This record gives sequence, structure tokens and C-alpha cells, in this order.
Amino acid sequence: MDRLAIVVPCYNEEEVLCLASQALRGVLDDLVGKGKIAADSFILFVNDGSRDRTWELIEAEHAAHPVQVAGVKLAGNVGHQFALTAGLNTAKDMCDVTISIDADLQDDVAVIEEMVDKFHEGSDIVYGVRRERKTDTFFKRTTAQAFYRLMSLMGVKTVYNHADFRLMSQRAVEEFSKYKETNLFLRGMVPLIGYQTDCVYYDRKERAAGESKYPLKKMLALAFNGISSFSIKPISLILGLGLFIIFVSFVALVYALISYFTGRVVAGWTSLILSIWFLGGLQLLAIGMVGQYIGKIYIEVKHRPRYNIEKVIAGGVLPEKSAGVGKAQDGKA
Ligand code: UDP
Ligand code: MG
Repeated sequence: MDRLAIVVPCYNEEEVLCLASQALRGVLDDLVGKGKIAADSFILFVNDGSRDRTWELIEAEHAAHPVQVAGVKLAGNVGHQFALTAGLNTAKDMCDVTISIDADLQDDVAVIEEMVDKFHEGSDIVYGVRRERKTDTFFKRTTAQAFYRLMSLMGVKTVYNHADFRLMSQRAVEEFSKYKETNLFLRGMVPLIGYQTDCVYYDRKERAAGESKYPLKKMLALAFNGISSFSIKPISLILGLGLFIIFVSFVALVYALISYFTGRVVAGWTSLILSIWFLGGLQLLAIGMVGQYIGKIYIEVKHRPRYNIEKVIAGGVLPEKSAGVGKAQDGKA
């Protein structure tokens, strides 16, 4: 039977912690009762340096439900993405499958069962996707949609309307932990892992209690991070712009020469305007060229895994080194 770990990052969530624990324990009991997960499945609360009583509440929940509730206390506030990563990496050695969910119960815990079913049907990653955003403010909805659109324009593969509510099998988290980059944007990284994936759909609710820990400033930072960690397209845009402006300067050359010969210009204007356009274009082109190399260095220093082998089938004896691969083959059985 597969042991499930539900990973919940918490930052100043004293208002919702007990509610979340209760709701998630209910889900665990239900799934254990239906024989879908192991009886020692658990919730892992990650306290992300909260300044309120969140950690005390986690300790109390653990004392009351020693098997079902576990906790990780981070030494300081590192932000949602890091807190979640810390939780997943801690959980992966203690379970067969993880589900990450926010503490505020905005994501529908009722679809966890569907996620687990899809996992049993062979998916290693199951994304929770919001069906609509009725409960979000107009501002949050439009900015979020613009963000998804910009991301795909920049060539970053993300799942539309999926935040960080997702199931990941133990081996998917194991592979994810090989991504050593410091600028984390989980929604962009998880699709890079591969494996069979699936989606479940739900309606996002209002926050159960407390207020959003993602003010506009943090949202913008996340959006910028998402693009700059995955795409060097902005650099290519500069290169393209440089080329375009040089082209414009040639058109301007023709125009200026015609003006010059028809005598409709002030002395010195022709050479001045041409130098401005041409030099401007040349500079952008040069910056873009240098940027291409910087972009390559950036990609190199990430040391991301270049591929993820799911299975090897071979006749005869597999080389010793691929023992790990053999394990991965039946890792989910
Ligand atoms: N969170 C965190 N560290 C932070 C900010 C937020 O662990 O620095 C957690 C928070 O406790 C919640 C989740 O990240 O479980 C999502 O935050 P929130 O619900 O406030 O974001 P929103 O839904 O408003 O975008
Ligand atoms: Mg929320």
C-alpha cells in the first residue's frame, strides 16, 4: 500500500492551521478507509519561519495525532517555493507519493482522492487545475491570466491555471531534487521532469481564514522569477530589436539622402540623424550578442539534469550501474 504525504507550507497561518489539519486528516481517514493509501500516511506541515503561533499549533497537532501529523520547522522565512521544496525533499524519504497543498484550504481537498486514483492508474504527476476563478478578485484574475500568457509567449512550459496543488510520486520528487537551481519556480520545473502526467479540475474557494501571504510585490517577484529562470528570450528580443533598428537606419539613409539632394534639410542633419540610428542599433545588437553568451552561461550554471531515464529494457544482463534504473522501474509497485 502506498504511503501518502500531504505537504503544506505555512507562513503565519495560525487562523487556519487547525482547520487545515482537521480537513486533511479527514481526507486521510477517508482514503485509508477505502484502502487507497497506507494507514501511516501523514500530513507534513512546513513552518516557514512564521512569526505567530503556527509552530506551536503544529506541535500541538502532532502531539494529538502523532502518526497523522508531522512537522518541519525552517529556521527562518524563505518563501513559499523554498518552503514547499524543503517539505517535498523531507517527505520523499518517508513516503511513496506526495501531494502539495496550501494551508488556506483554497484548493479543494475533495479532489485529492481523484489525484490518488490517477496515481494508481500510472501517473507520476497529477496537476490540480482551477476550473474558474470566480472567487478571485478581478485584479488577481486578470493579472494571473496575463502572467500565464506571457509565460507561454516566453516559451516557458506551464500548466494553465495550475498553482502548486499537485501530486508527485516519490520518484518524481527524487528527480525534482536533482534540479539544484536556487531561483525556484516549481510550476515551470515540474513539467521538465517528464513521466506520465494528468490533471484534475476543481473550483478554487475563498481563503478559509486569515489573509493572503502573497501581496502584489511577492506576486510580481514570482512572475519575474518564473520568466527569468526559464527563458533567455528577453535577450533574444534585444538582439532582434538591434537588428530591426539597424534596418530602420538603412531605410532612413535612403530617406535622408533623398532629402539631402532635394535640398530640404538643415546642414548637418543628415549625418547626425543617421549616426544616431545606426549607432543605437549597433549598440543594441552588440548587447544582444553578449547577452546570448550570458544566457548560455546562465543555462549552463543551472546544471539541470539533461534527461530523465524512465525505463531501460535490454537483453542479457544490465550493466551494474543501472541498478538504480531497475529500481525505478518497479519503484511504484
Ligand atoms: N507561504 C509560505 N511562505 C511565504 C508565503 C506564503 O509558506 O513566505 C504559504 C502560505 O502559508 C500558504 C501558501 O504559501 O500556505 C500560499 O499562500 P497564500 O494562500 O497566502 O497565497 P495566495 O493564495 O493568496 O496566492
Ligand atoms: Mg491562498
